[in-house]
Amino acid sequence: MTRPCDILIQAACIVTQDAMRTVIEDGALAVTDGTVLAVGPREAVAAAHAPAQVLDLGNALVMPGLVNAHTHAAMTFLRGVADDLPLMDWLTQHIFPVEKHLTPDIVEAGALLGCAEMLRTGTTAFNDMYLIQNATFRAVDAAGLRCLGGEGIFGFPSPAYPDADAGLALVRKLHDTWRHNPRIRQCVTPHAVYTTSPELLQRCQALAEELDLPLHIHLAETTTETAQCQQMFGQRPVPYCHGLGLLTPRTTVAHAVDLTDDEIDLLASTGAAVAHNPESNMKLASGAAPVPQMLARGIAVGIGTDGAASNNSLNMFTEMTSCAMLHKLRCMDPTCAPAQTVLDMATLGGAAALHWPGLGQLAPGCPADLTALDLSSPNLQPMYNPASHLVYAATGHEVRLTMVAGEVLYQDGRFTRFDYPALVAQMRDVRRWVLDKLGR
Ligand SMILES: [Zn+2]
Repeated sequence: MTRPCDILIQAACIVTQDAMRTVIEDGALAVTDGTVLAVGPREAVAAAHAPAQVLDLGNALVMPGLVNAHTHAAMTFLRGVADDLPLMDWLTQHIFPVEKHLTPDIVEAGALLGCAEMLRTGTTAFNDMYLIQNATFRAVDAAGLRCLGGEGIFGFPSPAYPDADAGLALVRKLHDTWRHNPRIRQCVTPHAVYTTSPELLQRCQALAEELDLPLHIHLAETTTETAQCQQMFGQRPVPYCHGLGLLTPRTTVAHAVDLTDDEIDLLASTGAAVAHNPESNMKLASGAAPVPQMLARGIAVGIGTDGAASNNSLNMFTEMTSCAMLHKLRCMDPTCAPAQTVLDMATLGGAAALHWPGLGQLAPGCPADLTALDLSSPNLQPMYNPASHLVYAATGHEVRLTMVAGEVLYQDGRFTRFDYPALVAQMRDVRRWVLDKLGR
């Protein structure tokens, strides 16, 4: 008896990232209604299914779509506008002055470019926080990725709202607007401890509980943040947030760089997840997050690119390479952050950081979110260990196809849902707008 399915995907190698980390040579994957029905050896899966469509990818490696655990997708429009500066100077002198003039059109164009870059480099889901988030959701809806996103909440006016009350009301409105979209989920996203008050953080937490949403915050990113937090609130960032009830299993903290051993234990005991941003932390010289120690204590850690203004790419393949290298150097131990551990962070760890079970693996019942790399690429020949290639050799530009919920969104240079050349033309106008706002 054969089972009908929408699509049968065949490839030379399938890296499933399932519980056994099964790797299948000469494999196939049956997909129906956007969900993986079966994955296994080509002959067995093909014999058991009657597909409406066959997609034979030949000498390709199919893997779960990568999950970007922390980004500001729309910030692609500020890529390269200011580099080589400390975090606070960079933010206050170059980023905030442009962002105060933001419009929905600028955010939507930047976010669509971010989605294009992520699809092009094998990312299918991301955890986003920015201003005028409704515009980012529109871009995500157009491009077809999955997104957990939230309106950045500040204790001062933003381009999206005049005060914090209106900011929290906007979160409710966004939740109502997008709650029935299967690829877009809402999150409560207070920006950081240094841009909010204790009362505002508590109101964010209460709202997350009330609406049953995840909460995502920048935390313990730099020693400067720690000093500010101690000066303003008399505590270091992690115990400060814990005291306000902010660290729970629904929480994802981005960065978690400046941590004491006790704070790592505290994070572990709360069940909060961490989004680790190695390249952003290196570029802004924020430090190296103690990731091996966090993993050893059972904290779920995903990998994020942060925004393109501080990275400067949204490429999770190069981010995996950087992650592995950073921890080996930090620990002066080449056995630190091995390839499979890093690949796990970029897939399953990302699913935990997005509080979205089923992402980051290709197993029956999981969403058919995947990407396929061309194994004929010179830098991927020969192959002994797929995880090694994905973390140390791939650059993301070997990606031939990216699919979300069984739908092809990128294939061989073409984006299926939007007009990429028109977007490139639009970004030229956006660049002129930015230079005007900076008085350059
Ligand atoms: Zn960030």
